[in-house]
Parts: sequence; structure tokens; C-alpha cells
Amino acid sequence: MQIIHSVKEMINLRNSEIFSNKSIGFVPTMGSLHDGHLDLVKRAKQQSDFCVVSIFVNPKQFNNKSDFEKYPKKTEEDIEKLKNVNCDFVFIPENNDIYNNYSGFKMDFGGLDKIYEGKYRPGHFQGVVDIVYRLFDIIKPHKAFFGQKDYQQVLVIKKMTDIAGLNTEIIECPTVREKSGLAMSSRNERLSQENKKNASEIFQIVSNLKFNEIRHKTPDTVAKEIQSKIDSVDNLKTEYIAFCEPNTLNPVKIFNEGKNVIVCLAVFCEEVRLIDNIFLHF
Ligand code: AMP
Repeated sequence: MQIIHSVKEMINLRNSEIFSNKSIGFVPTMGSLHDGHLDLVKRAKQQSDFCVVSIFVNPKQFNNKSDFEKYPKKTEEDIEKLKNVNCDFVFIPENNDIYNNYSGFKMDFGGLDKIYEGKYRPGHFQGVVDIVYRLFDIIKPHKAFFGQKDYQQVLVIKKMTDIAGLNTEIIECPTVREKSGLAMSSRNERLSQENKKNASEIFQIVSNLKFNEIRHKTPDTVAKEIQSKIDSVDNLKTEYIAFCEPNTLNPVKIFNEGKNVIVCLAVFCEEVRLIDNIFLHF
């Protein structure tokens, strides 16, 4: 596995013979890798000649300074994990280098930046788009792999590639969970054992919903009911929870048999903010 630290080196490598006529699968990450990230890497390997992973904790996408400062950094361990899944290239740029002479990619989010994560983390998606556009420009991947755990991010990135006319196919990958149901996340490291158990209740509560028990209620009512169940678990406090239509994230107005819905949510477990997006197949 080759490790690349500078933007110039990465661009030179991308333009070299090594990559000619080869397909590239790209997995952007902020490091502190877990099995959810490694699943994306395995998928990228399966679907491409070469897999490139980036590790960069992007300050622009943190609206909360202390969340950025507390974000775990484990580069040495990450490198070992990536070697174990036969990753081909890992790109670990510096902030000054990647943002040198680059101020971002401005686009019309069509309102996606104003709801859910966009509403509670102002500027977050602009920061995500800024870094992903830059990374795509440097790496020019044929396919890029993103997790459904951050479902709104997947929609934002798809919109960005459409608007910018990029030739990168966005591959949406299922959320990898702990046995308890808790969505794997680098932020879970900040949870005590007891809080991991508390946080796993989120998935249990949502995935136990039965169509026949909720079909006559409005999605708003059911959202309020699950919010109060979640909030009654020790140390959990819901920030938002909503039933949405998967393609648009528009609120679902009525539950219909045979229609998929996605439950978008953010919940604080003490000071750790957890997000999840859970598909329900009715
Ligand atoms: P992050 O390092 O948190 O920016 O995540 C990098 C990529 O990994 C994003 O596309 C995430 O959606 C994805 N990811 C994070 N956690 C999971 C998970 N539990 N299962 C699948 N993908 C994930």
C-alpha cells in the first residue's frame, strides 16, 4: 500500500502510467477507521482496479470547534487497518496543502442544506462539498463510495456531481452496525460502555416499528412517540427525528404499505452527537 501525503505527489501519481486504463474506486474518510469504513474499502476493491482512501479531518465541515478538536485521530492504526484489507493507496493531505489556492465549490443545494443536518449544523454541507469536490478533482475516481449512515450527505454529493458534471458514479453503501444495532461511528469511541448500550436503544426502538401498529397514525405523531421513547432512555436526548421520503427527504405525510421510508435522526448521548438514517420497508 502506498501512502501519499502531498497534493502534488497525488496529482503526479494520478497522471502516471500506473493509473492508465485502470478504474479507481475512492473512499473519502476522516480516519479513526472502523468496520463501516472498511466495508466501503472492500466494496471499492471489488468494483475497481485500484482503491484509493483519503484520510482528512476537514475543519470546514465542523460547525462546532470542540467537536473538531475532540475528533479522534489514529493515523498509524488506520494505516494498519487499510493494509489488512489490501487498500492500494492512502492519501493523507495537510490542511494548508489541500486548501492552497482553493476556496471551495459553491452550488445550489436545492434546500438540502436547510433541513435536518443542514439546519442543525449550518455550513456543514458546504464544508463537505468543498472537500469532496477538491478530492474528486485530484483523484478523478470512476466510482466513489459513501455510507447510508450519512444519508443526507449521499444526496448532497449526488447533487454536487450532477451540477458539476463529474464522471464519478456515487455508490451508496448500507450502514454497518454493532451487534447491538448501534451504527458504527468514529464518535462511538467517546461513549462509555453504559452509553453504548443506551445508544443502541435508538436502532432497537426505530426498527421495532410495525406497519400495522402505526398505519392509522400520522408520521408526525409516530415521530413524537419514538422521540419520547428515545428520550426516556438514560442520557439520550433527541435533536430531530422524522420520517422521510428516501429520494428527496421530503416529510412522509402518510404511511403506505409497500413504500419505503427513511427515519432520519440525530440524538445526543450526553455530549456526543450521534446520527443515524434507518430504512424501513413497509
Ligand atoms: P467519516 O469518516 O465519518 O467522514 O465517514 C467516511 C465515510 O464512511 C462516509 O461515507 C460515511 O457515511 C461512511 N460511514 C461511516 N460510518 C459508517 C457505517 N457505520 N457504515 C457504513 N458507512 C459508514
